[in-house]
Amino acid sequence: MSKPDTLLSPDPMFRAAAAKVVARIGADRATVPNAIPVHDPHDDSVIGYVPDLDADQALEAVSRADAAGRSWAATTPRHRADVLRRWYDLLIDNADDIALLITLEMGKTLADARAEVTYGADFVRWYAEEATRHTGTVREAPTGGAQLLTRHAPVGLAVLITPWNFPLAMATRKIAPALAAGCPAVVKPAALTPLTTLFAVQLAVEAGVPEDLVQAVTTSDAGAFSNAVLADPRVRKVSFTGSTSVGKVLLRLAANNVLKSSMELGGNAPFVVFDDADLERAVEGAFIAKMRNGGQSCIAANRFLVQDGIADAFVEGLTERLTSLRTGSGFAPGVGLGPMVDHKAVHRLQGLVDDAVGRGAKLRTDAHSYEGPGSYFGAVLLDHVPGDAEVATTEIFGPIAAVQRFSTQEEAVARANDTEFGLAGYVFTESLDRAFTVADSLATGIVGINQGVPSNAAAPFGGIKESGLGREGSTEGLEEYQEIRFYNLALRSTS
Ligand code: NAP
Repeated sequence: MSKPDTLLSPDPMFRAAAAKVVARIGADRATVPNAIPVHDPHDDSVIGYVPDLDADQALEAVSRADAAGRSWAATTPRHRADVLRRWYDLLIDNADDIALLITLEMGKTLADARAEVTYGADFVRWYAEEATRHTGTVREAPTGGAQLLTRHAPVGLAVLITPWNFPLAMATRKIAPALAAGCPAVVKPAALTPLTTLFAVQLAVEAGVPEDLVQAVTTSDAGAFSNAVLADPRVRKVSFTGSTSVGKVLLRLAANNVLKSSMELGGNAPFVVFDDADLERAVEGAFIAKMRNGGQSCIAANRFLVQDGIADAFVEGLTERLTSLRTGSGFAPGVGLGPMVDHKAVHRLQGLVDDAVGRGAKLRTDAHSYEGPGSYFGAVLLDHVPGDAEVATTEIFGPIAAVQRFSTQEEAVARANDTEFGLAGYVFTESLDRAFTVADSLATGIVGINQGVPSNAAAPFGGIKESGLGREGSTEGLEEYQEIRFYNLALRSTS
């Protein structure tokens, strides 16, 4: 369906301010012969350039980070905490500029971009606080005669690979704990959204992070990058956020040198609404769990499983919320849904809608894909989606709400868990007993109970099954960058 005239246009003032931020980080011109162009998903125009580094240059970055890392590991936890706190302050001081850059290169609305800056900066503040706390334990041996001391040592050079959907937060969620633990890092942002990460690293250096300690490597050949750096014996850690298929490739590479590995991978979140849920709360929770970041979030509600008694009212409420959304540039006043990250995403989403409708799902909204320029796809609600439709079995990563209905709690739990993924799940009910029973039964690392946005820097974020390994945020996120060693201190009795 082609309706380009209904799309909201960017406010030229914001657009011009965003271009100034690109110039501020020196990415407005191609400074090297082989540069990667970065595009604005609103109109496909080129907004900046980053260097296209090859495998040898990535290994040079490893050498620089490794050299800087030796003295960083020897700094005190207080020093690292102070530097991280200054970085947090600079991220907040520059919040408007960072948000402009996020919207420009990724497309999300300015409101979503500002929320990402708050969320992303929060990881830096959290690890500034955590750096001084998590330094070891002393325990008495149960049989006596010894003290057991644990020491938390930095794991070593960390390779951090991030996706395009949260270009600031996915980077800070890795860089901040790495620095807090005393590790150097090589970070590779997604080729679609490298500018925000470059800006954040620039601010880290201004805050006092040693110049070479965090190396940002931009490349158009992600495979060559990972093949080279993960084979380098100086690298001891890989932390990846992205698709499950790429995660599996990286785990195989990590196996060669037995690297400590954290994998934040894809999801297929069930959002279960029971008859006894507060309807308004459920619709609002569903709306935010589905539409935050244009649906391009790994914990986005993927399958709405709604009990028969409340289903019609829920579908009506959510349809109303979705159809009231204005689609257009992330810089447009009043916009609720920005462009998707690229045209590939739009074609994939259109394919999911066509497949579901072909299998009998009922389309409750009208506009979906638009003709270019710009990669736009309007919000869609599909009701009565059959369990075997592609939209129910794969990660949607876009603004399609797919509703299935169920009659019993057992059926809801069985269907919710019928997936290889296990990142997030949601349960909406006014019964405390049911909330806990169902939350305990969901095979996911994260559960939102009457809550559509469960993420928090103070909580351990991560999935089970094919959604990943390890946790980010919280105390557990720091341990991902530490080796825990123990000393057994023998004590001779003197009595
Ligand atoms: P992706 O295609 O897996 O890419 C993620 C990152 O990996 C990008 O930087 C990409 O580089 C890089 N990459 C691709 N192939 C690689 C290789 N062979 N070696 C090394 N790096 C490689 O995922 P995406 O499309 O950007 O992001 C969407 C996915 O991320 C979704 O599945 C989503 O669920 C997941 N995600 C998970 C979480 C979580 O916390 N669990 C959070 C956010 C997103 P290029 O950009 O150069 O291709």
